[in-house]
Formats: sequence, structure tokens, C-alpha cells
Amino acid sequence: MSGKKYLFTPGPSPVPPEVLAALGEPVVHHRSPDFRPVYERCLARLREVCRTERDVLLFTASGTGAFESAVANLVSPGEPQLVVSCGNFGERWAAMTAAYGAEVDHLRYAWGETPDADDVRARLRERPAKAVWIVHSETSTGVVTELPPFAAAAREAGALIVVDAVSSLGAVRCETDAWGLDVVVSGSQKALMTPPGLGLCAVSKAALAATGTSPRYYFDWERTRKAQASLDAAFTPPVSLVAGLDVALGLLLEEGLDAVLDRHIRLGRACRAGAKAMGLELFSPDEDRSAVVTAMRAPDGISSDDVVRGLRDRFGMTIANGQGDLKGKIFRLGHIGWFDVFDITSALAAVEIVLADLGADVERGVAVTAALEAYEHANVA
Ligand code: PLP
Repeated sequence: MSGKKYLFTPGPSPVPPEVLAALGEPVVHHRSPDFRPVYERCLARLREVCRTERDVLLFTASGTGAFESAVANLVSPGEPQLVVSCGNFGERWAAMTAAYGAEVDHLRYAWGETPDADDVRARLRERPAKAVWIVHSETSTGVVTELPPFAAAAREAGALIVVDAVSSLGAVRCETDAWGLDVVVSGSQKALMTPPGLGLCAVSKAALAATGTSPRYYFDWERTRKAQASLDAAFTPPVSLVAGLDVALGLLLEEGLDAVLDRHIRLGRACRAGAKAMGLELFSPDEDRSAVVTAMRAPDGISSDDVVRGLRDRFGMTIANGQGDLKGKIFRLGHIGWFDVFDITSALAAVEIVLADLGADVERGVAVTAALEAYEHANVA
């Protein structure tokens, strides 16, 4: 059908009609009674979704901007920081902390590996650090790291832990307070079902007390915290996006956070089952935690560039290519936010057709059946 588009990337992700309707409401003034209740409710809902009693600071920025707020507030030039990376985003945080003058100890895993908390423990024994910086869901590879052991390793060493939950918040369990995560960063355009443009940062008392000497103004945590406390944003917020996010968070909480996380586990299982049924090799781990994005290798002799292009040109479907050295080798189907199993089956059916056209030996129809079965019969513990 001409013009119909499908968004199957791990962010931006599809936006529900209720949220689109809120975005289309007339613009209100941010210091008026038309906005303050929306702002207050949105901030309260954010705390619920972040599973925290603390402040969740909201910035007009993408996830990278919210992450930069953590770097600008916590890093002082010359101070040691331990950055864990296993893909594109962890490497970005190593570069960003270095750009702020940190003494970066970069614990670097190959793309696709899963970090091990014992390595962090050993590194911190050798070289204490002010904070451990880690990615929860490494969107470039599909690896989701289990956070509590890393939080424990940081705590034992007296270090803070800063978590990039940009693609995981609202898709994979992230217990900010219960797990002792000092900073949790996310963005609006992933599992929070809102267009890009809002970044957020849940910040512990310890993190607020540990701010350093890097220059900052717009991203200064204390300025934003104080302003939010009186519902008087420090700078003009994107009122329409806040209204949209408020509705999106309401939908998420209405479904129930646990139910939402279970749905993501089942979506991940369905996507992996379908990919395997058509004979594709998974690049992302075949485990329940990997519930954000499924990365699969293009069959021998076929470039994932052609798979991505084929889906877009023939079916109006946008999926993600590999990043960095993985471009051309893997392709990624995101399944976060406003997603159900029929989004997965649509994407898989199109992948089958495109791969068959590119000469791959795939049996048509098997992926859809396997995905539906895995989704229906998945018993989430
Ligand atoms: N971290 C992760 C894990 C991501 O998936 C992304 C976005 O793809 C980012 C950080 C960067 O976020 P943004 O593109 O919103 O700046």
C-alpha cells in the first residue's frame, strides 16, 4: 500500500495514537496552570517507571544529552572513571568522559560480548574510580547486562554507578532504588513510546552530592532539580513532548509495568524463534534479557545493507543495519514500546521474502509460525 510505513527500529519506535493526539493539542505556556499539572504528573509517572523515589531530571535533549548531563556533573578533569563497553554506546561514553578530561580506565569488551562484574571488581581493586559507567541494553548488539552484580561491585569499591538505560527503560527491568543505581539515563523515543527530544536522568542523593568541577550550565543538575521541585522548569520545556510523554507513561502504567516487561520478554522470544526458524544465526544472545532488539547475521553472501534496503523499498519497513564494523553483516529488529506480536510477524514475513529474493535458502512461512508459537506459549516466570 503506497505510503504505509512501519517502524521496526530500536528507537525511535512507534508512537501510539493517544500520544500523537496529545502532541497535537494547542501549545500552552510552561509557567501556567495549563501545563503545571501535566508536568507534575509526568515527573511522578517517570519516578514510577524508573522505580525510584528520587528526582528524575528532565532535559530537552536526546539520550546522549541526558548522558552528557551525568558526565558534565560527575566528571572533574583528572579524576579516574571506569567505563565498561561492549558496543557502540559504551564506546561513546568512554569518548565522552575522556572529552571532559577524565582519567578513563576503559574496560572494553568485543562487540557482542556480555560484561562480567568480576572484571569490574578486579579493575576497581587495581585502579579505584569515582564511578562505573555501564550500558544496560547495548542497542548496537542486543546484549543486555544484568545490573545488580555491577552495582554491588561498584558499591564495594565506594564508586558510584551510572547506567545508560536509554533503550531498556520500560522494556527490561531496571530497579533504580532497589538495586542501588546512582544514575539512570534514558530517552523518550524508545520504550517510552514518545517522539525523540526528551532525555531523563534519575539521580541519587550520593550522585547529587558528588558533582565535580566541569563547566556546565544548561545541564547543571542542581539548577534543574531546584526548578523541577517548584514545577518551574529552568528553561522552556518542550511542552507538547512532555504532554505526549505523560500520556505514554499513563498507558504504560495502565498496562502495568510488570505486564509490560513480560510482554517484552515474549516479544524477544518470538523474534528469536522466528529468526532461528528461517535458518538465521542470531548475533544477539538467545536469552530472555535480550528483549530490546534482536540482531541477526545476514546469510553468507548477502549484505545486510540489501536486506535493510529491500524491506524499506518493497514494504515501507524500516529496520536497523549493523553499526560500526557490523554494518553490512547484521541487521536488527527492535521490539520495544508500542509493539505486539503482529509487528514481529510482519517484520519476519518481510525478511523472509526479501532474503528469498536475494537468493537465500529460506523456507517461506516458518518464521511467522514459530514466532506466534513462542509468543503464545511463552510462560514468563
Ligand atoms: N544509548 C543507547 C543504549 C542507545 O540505544 C542510544 C540510541 O540509540 C543512545 C544511547 C543515544 O541516544 P540518543 O540517540 O537519544 O542520543
